[in-house]
Amino acid sequence: MRVSDIYKTGGRSLSFEIFPPKKDSDLDNIDETLDVLCELKPDFISVTFGAGGSSNCNKTIKLAQKIKEKYKVEPVVHLTCLHYDRAEIDCFAHALKEAGVENVLALRGDHRDDIPMKNDFLYSSDLAKYLSEKYDFCVLGACYPECHPESDGMVDEIKHLKAKVNAGAEILISQLFFDNDAFFSFREKCEIADINVPILPGIMPVVKAAQIRRMVSMCNATFPERFQRIIDRYEDNKEALFDAGMSYALSQIIDLLVSDTAGIHLYTMNDPRIARRICEGIKNIV
Ligand code: FAD
Repeated sequence: MRVSDIYKTGGRSLSFEIFPPKKDSDLDNIDETLDVLCELKPDFISVTFGAGGSSNCNKTIKLAQKIKEKYKVEPVVHLTCLHYDRAEIDCFAHALKEAGVENVLALRGDHRDDIPMKNDFLYSSDLAKYLSEKYDFCVLGACYPECHPESDGMVDEIKHLKAKVNAGAEILISQLFFDNDAFFSFREKCEIADINVPILPGIMPVVKAAQIRRMVSMCNATFPERFQRIIDRYEDNKEALFDAGMSYALSQIIDLLVSDTAGIHLYTMNDPRIARRICEGIKNIV
């Protein structure tokens, strides 16, 4: 199923993001996580893709195939392009088709000093165009409510996003954010720019202290005072931080759901407790 079909009749989605385990041997053990995630009946599960090397991609594809065949849930496969040439992307595309994958999140990927850059696809829009035109995948793209870290500002960001949609991205999934107003303001700018595809807000419940430090260095997300107070208070109290982080994420999600969002994309970090707690918290909310 093409995930874009969900929104054609006004439906909205609940989706989870997972990553393939580092060790090949752990691919079998991820079943426990998948058992819980799939029981919660998400509309799709997206599987991340590590930069560089075909073994990374093979793991992603294997996991996506398992999600589709064993769990009967639609997978979305992330694919980056900065470090791959056209022949390599063709190879991945054929493997995806063979695995029955119909949906791809087309990404540029981050610049890496340790992996040589190839010049066939410089931006995600190049990949989006290639995958939608040559392979007829349902293509999704990433977006950044608080700007991509390399961006020259929101005007450029929106221009490039519009190019990505024109190149074939039918759905956008956002970078995580903790301030819903940043998302609402971004969505309004997209509307003004005539970007009319579904934009799924990406929510990551912050439940571990180490995760907070990583978040700060990795993305542009602002920490609202209300959220900062939770961190200051509970950073050293594992259980309290889990509860408070989950409650904060739930309040974000409910606010988004009552504000006409096309769905919720949950960064699960492969922790089934997170998905279960969120689903429990919104089970009667339509
Ligand atoms: P692009 O859309 O190409 O944008 C990158 C930058 O270039 C932006 O600043 C944009 O404004 C600018 N730009 C775009 N087009 C042009 C142009 N024509 N001229 C000049 N500037 C331009 N990374 C992984 O390695 N694996 C994953 O699985 C993964 N999953 C992700 C999932 C989501 C939902 C998100 C939000 C990010 C994910 N990432 C992943 C991270 C992503 O690869 C990085 O953020 C990367 O730096 C940018 O990727 P992009 O596809 O957004 O790039």
